[in-house]
Amino acid sequence: MQHHETVPLVPVSHGRGAWLYDTDGRRYLDAISSWWVNLFGHANPRINTALKDQLDRLEHAMLAGFTHEPVVRLSEQLSALTGNVLGHCFYASDGASAVEIALKMSVHAWRNTGHVKKSEFVCLAGSYHGETLGALAVTDVPLFRAAYGALLQNVHVVASPDARQAAPGESAAAAALRAAAALETLLQQRSAHIAAVIIEPLVQCAGGMAMHDPLYVRTVRALCDRYGVHMIADEIAVGCGRTGTFFACEQAGIWPDFLCLSKGISGGYLPLSLVMTRNEIYAAFYDREMARGFLHSHSYTGNPLACRAALATLEIFRDDDVLTKNQATAVRLADALSPLATDPRIANVRQRGMIWACDAVIGDMAEASTFSRRFFTAALGQELLMRPIGRTLYLMPPYILDDAQIDFLGATVQRVFGQVMQK
Ligand SMILES: *Cc1c(COP(=O)(O)O)cnc(C)c1O
Repeated sequence: MQHHETVPLVPVSHGRGAWLYDTDGRRYLDAISSWWVNLFGHANPRINTALKDQLDRLEHAMLAGFTHEPVVRLSEQLSALTGNVLGHCFYASDGASAVEIALKMSVHAWRNTGHVKKSEFVCLAGSYHGETLGALAVTDVPLFRAAYGALLQNVHVVASPDARQAAPGESAAAAALRAAAALETLLQQRSAHIAAVIIEPLVQCAGGMAMHDPLYVRTVRALCDRYGVHMIADEIAVGCGRTGTFFACEQAGIWPDFLCLSKGISGGYLPLSLVMTRNEIYAAFYDREMARGFLHSHSYTGNPLACRAALATLEIFRDDDVLTKNQATAVRLADALSPLATDPRIANVRQRGMIWACDAVIGDMAEASTFSRRFFTAALGQELLMRPIGRTLYLMPPYILDDAQIDFLGATVQRVFGQVMQK
């Protein structure tokens, strides 16, 4: 809050498409989709229409002993997108809760099938899976660990497959296999006690847009099978088409045991999250005895408005052939930013679908520590909303950017970067 003495909050009045407008009428291009949630723009007419219709039918009803059309249709449509491999959906309202549900469900499923010792988790170095206590335990961020470590379950942290850690001459795939070998060593020793491995497939987003080869995701799947451990894919940020396919796991040709979705699934409109899982997991809980059932509930579970926003979002994916269109948009984006690739003050330009990122090369530690805030402030002055993660500049824009907006983005990012690096 103290930083806001010098960097005042931006009071947002309304949004339209990729733009947010403040109460003084200034506009900002939302190049990070309002924290990665908004896929098809603000005040999207199609999602608005669906929500207005739903509002007059059913705003909410509890999902215990009751069900409703939006939640059933959404579950069926999402399951169909996995070829019904992940044929069951469990709902909550935010990403962290979805992660906690997957963790709890994994341990409880093992318990119900006679594996009572399996209660430990594995996550990647630099991972981020949310900030409630269970999700924070599998989040490897030193700042959070320092403050809340005493409250958290111990977990195993293994090497990240981050392609930037490839040795000179080593391919991204080889770096991925090296990281997977470290995971295998742990599983060899400890799999009797490990319930699940949780990863963010293809891109560790909050960890600084660290990208890895799909081979890593495929290898984790194989290792989980070999050592009898569940695989949790946290697709809260990378799902919903962000990396080029609807689910990031599709690029590795595998399905996890649990897949977490949130953020973009409601088009950025309403809090909604869910965990998709396999029939074997569902069957492990299917019992008359209450204690063997999965014990978890939230008041707003499966909220009809949120589900309806999600259905409208999926409809846009189908009607507009969004995944195909995004391929061209991603190429346009890379072109517009290509001058940065040859800037000596920029390293590790990388892209996966509709995520573009690079790292600013800054020698001075004090300057590096304030880079993100200075960039954010300078960008606002140029009608652009961007929040670098440390020295990592990234774009995660809504999918609706037109050519003019992409050109604006390319030119403005370069201008703001030049301005910030001069100081
Ligand atoms: C944002 C995020 C979460 C947490 O979601 P919240 O809705 O903020 O609780 C979990 N995992 C990943 C990968 C995320 O990006």
